[in-house]
Amino acid sequence: MAGPSFDDRDGVIWYNGEMVPWRDANLHILSHGLHYASSVFEGERAYNGRIFKLREHTERLFYSARTLGFEIPYSLDEIDEACKATLTENDIVDGYIRPVAWRGSEMMGVSAQETRINVAIASWPWPSYFSPEARMKGIKLRTTKWRRPAPDTEPVHAKAAGLYMICTLSKHEAEDLGFDDALMLDYRGQIAEATGANIFMVMGDGKLHTPISDCFLDGITRRTVIDLADKRGIEIIERAILPDELDNATEIFLTGTAAEVTPVGQIDERTFTVGDISRWMMEDYDQLVRGEGESAASAA
Ligand code: PMP
Repeated sequence: MAGPSFDDRDGVIWYNGEMVPWRDANLHILSHGLHYASSVFEGERAYNGRIFKLREHTERLFYSARTLGFEIPYSLDEIDEACKATLTENDIVDGYIRPVAWRGSEMMGVSAQETRINVAIASWPWPSYFSPEARMKGIKLRTTKWRRPAPDTEPVHAKAAGLYMICTLSKHEAEDLGFDDALMLDYRGQIAEATGANIFMVMGDGKLHTPISDCFLDGITRRTVIDLADKRGIEIIERAILPDELDNATEIFLTGTAAEVTPVGQIDERTFTVGDISRWMMEDYDQLVRGEGESAASAA
């Protein structure tokens, strides 16, 4: 892993309303969030000093918290401002922002009605989720046995810590076998997403197909790319997609705040080339997030 450990860095972290030195942003071992996954988070990126779709991310953080049965004890504006402040205080112009909210230590057990809701926001420079070389020729995915759960099994649309248990298992399994990430099917056996990004495929018909997000995160990047494709006049089809249909796919790419638009060159034994639609979406997304020359101040 590149860089220093995440608990041993210079800078400050916004923690329950105050900026605290990075190394002092600690919590107690007996925190409900750690034991029972009562934790929700966001992943945001700043480009040229501006956080892309900040309000949408903050709204999703509040939605995720409510889905897990708790309220963030700040306003949307306060969280937006705190996200921006972590960038300025840490001198970050291009980087990643990680807000997280969790239940504290006041109760230990399944019931957690009286726990304090804690909120922290960290930010750090983070150029690329997948290595630049892998991104150029397309990353390699391996289908995992772990399935995205049904919407009546878990709160599937929350960005909640508990939902990442099978993602880490799947990604480790893929990495151990020389792949970059895992492809996850859902409880019905349909293609769902990668472990931290949504999936799109260009089929033989030249149209862009993507699974309906009825049991996984409807990514902010996913929705952005759907708009960008629409502006290019590319037809988008949201539908149930079975793994065998990958035989008819000509291009595949992933979308996510961290992953941005990342082409896929291989899924299990099947290989794909990085085609025009993938390249256009990478370029269009890059231009959009960088605000096409818009100044950070006017966009904030
Ligand atoms: N699916 C999962 C499981 C994720 O963790 C992410 C990253 N937040 C996404 C999809 C993509 O979401 P977004 O585009 O909002 O970052």
